[in-house]
Amino acid sequence: MPQKTKETPMMAQYQKVKDQYPDAFLFYRLGDFYELFNDDAIKASQLLELTLTARNKNADDPIPMCGVPHHAAQNYIDILVDQGYKVAICEQMEDPKTAKGMVKREVVQLVTPGTMMDEKAGHAKQNNYLTAVVVEGDQFGFAYTDLSTGEMKVSQIASFDLLLNEMLSLQTKEVVINHDVASEVVQAIVQQQILVSYQADGEATAEVSFVSQNIAQPIELAVIKQLVLYLATTQKRQLGHLQRAQEYEPSQYLKLDYSAKMNLELTASLRTGHKSGTLLWLLDETKTAMGGRLLKQWLERPLLDLKAIQNRQHQVASFMNHYFERTNLQDALTKVYDLERLAGRVAFGSVNGRDLIQLKTSLEQIPTIKTILTGINDHQAFERALGQLDPVDDVRELIETAINPDAPISVTDGGIIQSGYNQTLDDYRDAMSNGKQWLAQLEAQEREVTGIHNLKIGFNRVFGYYIEVTRANLAALPEGRYERKQTLTNAERFITPELKAKEQLILEAEEHSTALEYELFTQVRETVKLAIERLQTLAKEVAALDVLQSFAVISENYHYVQPKLTADSHQIDVVDGRHPVVEKVLGRQKYIPNAVQMDDETDMLLITGPNMSGKSTYMRQLALTVIMAQMGCFVPAKSANLPIFDQIFTRIGAADDLISGQSTFMVEMMEANRAIMNATRNSLILFDEIGRGTATYDGMALAQAIIEYIHDNVHAKTLFSTHYHELTSLADSLTALKNVHVGAVEENGELVFLHKMLAGPADKSYGIHVAKLAGMPVPLLKRADVILAQLEDKPSAPVTPVAGSAKQVDEQISLFEPEDTAPVDPQIDQVLTAVKQFDLMSATPLEALNMVYQWQKQL
Ligand code: ADP
Repeated sequence: MPQKTKETPMMAQYQKVKDQYPDAFLFYRLGDFYELFNDDAIKASQLLELTLTARNKNADDPIPMCGVPHHAAQNYIDILVDQGYKVAICEQMEDPKTAKGMVKREVVQLVTPGTMMDEKAGHAKQNNYLTAVVVEGDQFGFAYTDLSTGEMKVSQIASFDLLLNEMLSLQTKEVVINHDVASEVVQAIVQQQILVSYQADGEATAEVSFVSQNIAQPIELAVIKQLVLYLATTQKRQLGHLQRAQEYEPSQYLKLDYSAKMNLELTASLRTGHKSGTLLWLLDETKTAMGGRLLKQWLERPLLDLKAIQNRQHQVASFMNHYFERTNLQDALTKVYDLERLAGRVAFGSVNGRDLIQLKTSLEQIPTIKTILTGINDHQAFERALGQLDPVDDVRELIETAINPDAPISVTDGGIIQSGYNQTLDDYRDAMSNGKQWLAQLEAQEREVTGIHNLKIGFNRVFGYYIEVTRANLAALPEGRYERKQTLTNAERFITPELKAKEQLILEAEEHSTALEYELFTQVRETVKLAIERLQTLAKEVAALDVLQSFAVISENYHYVQPKLTADSHQIDVVDGRHPVVEKVLGRQKYIPNAVQMDDETDMLLITGPNMSGKSTYMRQLALTVIMAQMGCFVPAKSANLPIFDQIFTRIGAADDLISGQSTFMVEMMEANRAIMNATRNSLILFDEIGRGTATYDGMALAQAIIEYIHDNVHAKTLFSTHYHELTSLADSLTALKNVHVGAVEENGELVFLHKMLAGPADKSYGIHVAKLAGMPVPLLKRADVILAQLEDKPSAPVTPVAGSAKQVDEQISLFEPEDTAPVDPQIDQVLTAVKQFDLMSATPLEALNMVYQWQKQL
């Protein structure tokens, strides 16, 4: 229950504003501080470690309060928004000194997790995506944008699973929905720790119309409108940098579901959650922040279109073939700043002089980049890029002539505009710095013109500047130009229009020049704003070149090859493939390359081998190779022929869904199911030790059934690792399944796993082999061999015990046949002993008969 504040006029104003932003922290500007009150204050004081005080401390119901100095506010806002909260910034809209009554206050921005423009170091290579969803029947309209770059994408998605997957892949922190969205959907989103914000429908603004220009689908139009309206309500300023929305189909890209992206450690390490040790980390040799962001986008959305992939390959090849040009290009790229975000700041009106100089420096590189590309345009690889690289000369020239290269950060304190750009400004500056000198010059000039040697220029408060001529010399003064202002005993004082004009300049110069500079700066900014779309196009092209040169660098450094992709093939032939990240970590010498060969008739490889022998590395290696290939990068292999895959599914390792709290085995089965249900003949499935999470026979049965199902119904290329050796016999009945295993050798009395994949099933007795190396007695090892052979014959039956070992007999009986083991009676025991001891040979028939009679009586 929110506390009601005592209604002083200020608190009444506060409460009125707060009521409009119930779900945000309200930063209420009071002089040099932003103050928070009531529940906001209590919560924020904990989150931000601020001292909690109170307004009206001595009143009956003091109002909890805490505050932050306005110049340090950004830090505190960042902390709150980082933790998933919203912050409404309420400013004083008039000068408290001149305001009549209560100072007018308004919320000027609502900062939210999805709209925060994070400029902190280290975040330049990341996008912050705000997403939006609308629902119509069983269809979802989905859109996303990055406010700092203005990029906008929209799609229609047919299932909630896919939708959630998109949101997770984009790592969105906030999704904008309307009240029509069903509560189960909202709950599922909230469960993923995504903030849900509501936006009511409203009139389409000019921005909405601009952004949706190329879109026709009603559901897509609706979601774009919702997203743009939300931006307008929260940002409360022009959003001229929003780009026209581009439609995309999640199916235009190699589909990698969220768990596959996680398991394959594409952008975040499973162990640390950081970039280090991921494929992104390996591939990132980009020189610009835009390139860094684009690389991540490409990595998360590898291509399906052969032509587009080949186009990238040609550019990479060209960069590899021209080392020096590539180095020159890298030099040029290092001088290119974040054009995309600069364009965003221009549109936002938050650009400063330094930003414009950065923009200019960046644009200066474009002709150099064009020259480099023209020189290495083998096979027209850069034809399209060259067409897109518009140096936006008009903007560059404007900034060059208008903006001071050493412009300060502040845009209101002057020093921002170049001299020579504006006559009035130049005059002001002239007047300011050269005022005295100019007067001296004028004095000399007047003396010369009039011939009056003691003519002088002076200043007083009443008349300002004047020309003073002694009485004796008055006659020498020409007619007309001089206007008499003051008469003294010995002299007369005059002004001239020229002197008055200068005087005005001098007096006003200081005051006016900063205002004029700001005005000129705003004009420049507005002119640059007109070029935003061109800048954005340019930024995209430069970013792409940056990623492609990065591919060339890593392909060269790590000896990757250009893969040969075939659109309608089902053959994999990778010679000496490597896992790029493990290879980088271990060093090239230590990594054992492995082939992956699956022809048209082979859909599945069943991989056997002990723990830590390299099974999962082998599987990941293939997946990463496929992803790199479809990104247009070269791949870690001696040669690689690959089909184009449509989707990759994984069930690898123990990266279990801790958040949702499902059991490991349940997660395992759900992931397996997703693959089985959605995979096509063109998909790649990686199943690592499926069935391990449950009892042995249960697990083995499931594993076998899954293999058979995929083999008979799905036909996707599948790598299936298992420690159930029994499954290797499936190769006899399943024609598209082949066994491979990890090879081992004996070295100095130790069994060494070579990380080398070989054809056929693993040697099932490697365990016994190890026991032998450990020096176990030979009879024991022989016995193990026998048991193994019998188990293979009839795995579920107990092994028959070896004769002659009473202990074993007992154990076996008690273990497996309890119902046959009646309790032993001492009476019977006596009889049995007597029977055994009776000397049959020396007894007469009658004696024997008597004995039998006695024993019978005993029983
Ligand atoms: P498994 O899945 O069989 O338990 P892993 O694939 O996890 O085994 O591999 C275990 C370790 O062996 C890895 O951490 C890696 O360091 C090493 N390894 C795997 N494959 C290779 C290889 N081809 N060359 C060199 N080392 C490898």
